[in-house]
Amino acid sequence: MLKGTMPKAAVIGWPIHHSLSPAIHTYWLKKLGITGSYDKMAVEPEKLAAFFQDLRHGDLLGINITLPHKEEALSLVDWVDPLAQHVGAINTVVVKDRQLLGYNTDVYGFAENLKQGGFVLRDAPVVVLGAGGAARAGLVALLDMGAKDIRLINRSRDKAEKLAQEFGPSLTVIDWGDENALHDAQLLVNATSLGLNGQNDVPLDLRPLPVTAFVTDMVYKPLQTGLLRQAADKGCRTIDGLGMLLYQAQLAFKYFFGALPEVTEDLRRSVIT
Ligand code: NDP
Repeated sequence: MLKGTMPKAAVIGWPIHHSLSPAIHTYWLKKLGITGSYDKMAVEPEKLAAFFQDLRHGDLLGINITLPHKEEALSLVDWVDPLAQHVGAINTVVVKDRQLLGYNTDVYGFAENLKQGGFVLRDAPVVVLGAGGAARAGLVALLDMGAKDIRLINRSRDKAEKLAQEFGPSLTVIDWGDENALHDAQLLVNATSLGLNGQNDVPLDLRPLPVTAFVTDMVYKPLQTGLLRQAADKGCRTIDGLGMLLYQAQLAFKYFFGALPEVTEDLRRSVIT
C-alpha cells in the first residue's frame, strides 16, 4: 500500500456484478472500525495479465479472484502457497513490496465451515460429488485434514479419474449415480453446481447414507438445497454452503487488513437478504 492511502482491496471477475464479497468485507470493515474499502472490478480475460502488472504498482492491498480467472491467475503471481498450488487455482492475491503472493482461501473456507458445523473427521469414507474447481479445493482440504478414503463421483467420469490420478491413492472413482458409495460414509459433499437456484437437484437417493453422516453442499443459493433437505429429513446433520463463502472471505480479510473478523448470524442474515 502507498503511504498515507486508505487500505483498499477488491474482487475481480468477469462478470462480477453477482459477487457477495463486497457486502461481506464492507460489513467487517464497518464492524471493526477500519477506514478502508472493498470494491468489485470487472476484468476481461484478455486484460488479466495487464491487470496483474498494474496491481504491483497500484494502491490495492490485494484482491480476491472469482470466475473465470482463478486458474489463469496462478501463473501471474510471484509466489504461490503450497495448498493453492495443490488446488491449481488461487482466489486471493496479496500485494507486498510489489510482489504478488497467491493463496487459495476456499480450502480454509471449506474446512472451517465443516469444523464450525461440528464435523470431526473419523476413519470412515467421505463421498465427494464433482470434479471442477470447487471439488479440487474441497479435496485438498479433506486430504490436508487427513482423509484416507475419498469416493469421488462425477457425471464425466474421465474428469474424476484425472483428479484421482493427480491426487493419489486416497481417492477412488465411483460411477455417477451409484448410491452404494454412500454406505458407511461419514460425510457427503456436493461440489457440483446441481441444486443451484433450486434447479436440478442432486439425483441421489440418500437412503444408504448412515444417519450419523454429515452432508454439506457448496451451493448456497438457495441455502437449503434439495440435497440438504433430503439429508435433514432423514436425520443427518447438514452444513450449508454460505459458511464456506464466509470463511474463505474471513481468511482473505485477514491477509488484506490484518484482523481476523467474526462470522456471525448477523453477517449471514445481512448477506442473504
Ligand atoms: P465447475 O464448472 O468447475 O464444475 C462444475 C461441476 O458440476 C462439475 O463436476 C460438473 O460435472 C458438475 N455438473 C454441472 N452440471 C451438472 C449436471 N447437470 N449433472 C451432473 N453434474 C453436473 O464449477 P465449480 O467447481 O467452480 O463450482 C461448483 C459449485 O460450487 C457452483 O455451484 C459454485 O457456485 C459452488 N461454489 C461454492 C463456493 C462456496 O464458497 N460455497 C466456492 C466455489 C464454488 P462435469 O464434469 O460432468 O461437467
